[in-house]
Amino acid sequence: MEQEMVCGQVQLKPGRSLMDWIHLMKSGKDMTGLRGRFIEITPEELAKHNKKTDCWLCIRGMVYNVTPYLEYHPGGEEELMRGAGADATELFDQIHSWVNYDSMLKECLVGRMTSKPTCVAKVSANQPGLKVPKETLLNGITVPDGSKKQLQDISPRYEWFQTEDMITIIIYTKQKDINSDSVIVDLEDGVLRTEIRQQEYSYILHLELRHEVQEVVSVHCGSKVGKIELHLKKINNTLWNDLGQPQEHNNSYKKNAVRDLFYRKCSLISKVDVSHNTRLFCFQLPPGCHLTVPIGQHVYLKSSIQDVQVVRPYTPVLSSLYPEARNENQTCPYIFLMIKIYPDGLLTPIIDKLQIGDSVFLSSPEGNFKCTQLKGVSELILLAAGTGFTPMIKLISFTLKISYFRKIQLMFFNKEEKDILWRDQLDKLTSIDKRFEVEYILSEPHSEWTGKRGKIERSLCSELLARHTEKLKRLVCVCGPNSFTEQVIGFCKELGISNEDIHAFSG
Ligand code: NAD
Repeated sequence: MEQEMVCGQVQLKPGRSLMDWIHLMKSGKDMTGLRGRFIEITPEELAKHNKKTDCWLCIRGMVYNVTPYLEYHPGGEEELMRGAGADATELFDQIHSWVNYDSMLKECLVGRMTSKPTCVAKVSANQPGLKVPKETLLNGITVPDGSKKQLQDISPRYEWFQTEDMITIIIYTKQKDINSDSVIVDLEDGVLRTEIRQQEYSYILHLELRHEVQEVVSVHCGSKVGKIELHLKKINNTLWNDLGQPQEHNNSYKKNAVRDLFYRKCSLISKVDVSHNTRLFCFQLPPGCHLTVPIGQHVYLKSSIQDVQVVRPYTPVLSSLYPEARNENQTCPYIFLMIKIYPDGLLTPIIDKLQIGDSVFLSSPEGNFKCTQLKGVSELILLAAGTGFTPMIKLISFTLKISYFRKIQLMFFNKEEKDILWRDQLDKLTSIDKRFEVEYILSEPHSEWTGKRGKIERSLCSELLARHTEKLKRLVCVCGPNSFTEQVIGFCKELGISNEDIHAFSG
């Protein structure tokens, strides 16, 4: 039985799917072992519950009895056990699949800590999907964790002024080369939320505006000086005494990892079949939203299933691979998602049933790919399996726009011929631009298939890498099921490719 997969997943036992967990939570069973009591917990008490048969952990001061949940955790029991009897806040902030832990564990809530736990979860740098920055380089300044003074010094600041009919807010980011991809603006029901992403940190300006303004905000980015201007048009030509009422996290500068993802309501504009089970959904951002999804980053879609928030990552694509779609990323208020519908999945059947005009909640982008990884690169080697093709789409489009990219090779792994996404477009692209090459490898082909067969193998990687032009700097990008990605990384390393020349997309 096929199921929607979230990256970082382990194979769970039958009967341990997310839907099974939701049913268990709704069954009325006492999940905490405390018959509904909410207790105060000391660090010493928390530390006692550190076994698989009795596992409590603390996230943001709240304590959860996760014993019944261990077998259902998509990241596996071991991942959760690293937080057993300890403060798992940092661990959870670094595991993307936990974006909705509070909803997922609400029936497991035991109580609140009386003071900060003394024992902290083991966070491992080698764990896939985890990053453990002890210190972060920001604007060339090293910021040790918790150094409030230094954070204040480099935190953006803002000022505002008005004319009779306009409000202008200027945010000084104190960082050069900021681009409009780093600015996310949401204006809805008179509340303005602006987020400026600066590597691992973000600045938030969040205000309920004093008076009414028109829905559309114009955003100007003075990249060289690091200045961002927001222009709002007043509805009445009233003189404002202040900008408005500060909302949650206003004027704060924090690590992205500790911030909750922000969602806005987007409406479905179109839905087109890409293959027998995969569709291209086009969602329109609300009028007051300015958001660009950088290359290689994903967004989350959120839906409530029996009162539990279910979120899934999807990497936005373009409307097509053809040259005319190449500037969509910067200019367009639409988000295109190529989604495979798993009949037994939790979220995709709901998405599939959406009608034109229906809404979904779509998050701000996140992801581990940075365009700076392309610096100096002139050859791209892309290995994609199934919908792992989605992050490759913007990457192919972007690199083909630039003349110094000399060769882009895609090896695309699918089960059957009918599963190959955008095959017509890929084939046509090879004739439009000779720098682009594609090869299809099928794991369950019909007997007439004359192309390559099988799954990922060391010999395929070595053949692909052998086509490399010696003098050119190359980057290998990989995306697909976890085991596929792990195998590609392993083979590449065996074949002498260094870590910085391989990128595995995570979602
Ligand atoms: P699929 O099951 O149709 O398989 C496609 C091909 O992947 C197979 O033909 C095979 O060659 C290869 N493959 C599958 N399982 C494998 C295994 N265990 N070992 C080696 N190779 C294997 O693929 P799908 O249903 O389209 O799933 C795509 C996967 O890509 C999902 O797990 C999804 O989470 C992941 N994905 C990740 C991102 C991201 O990280 N940004 C984006 C999109 C998709």
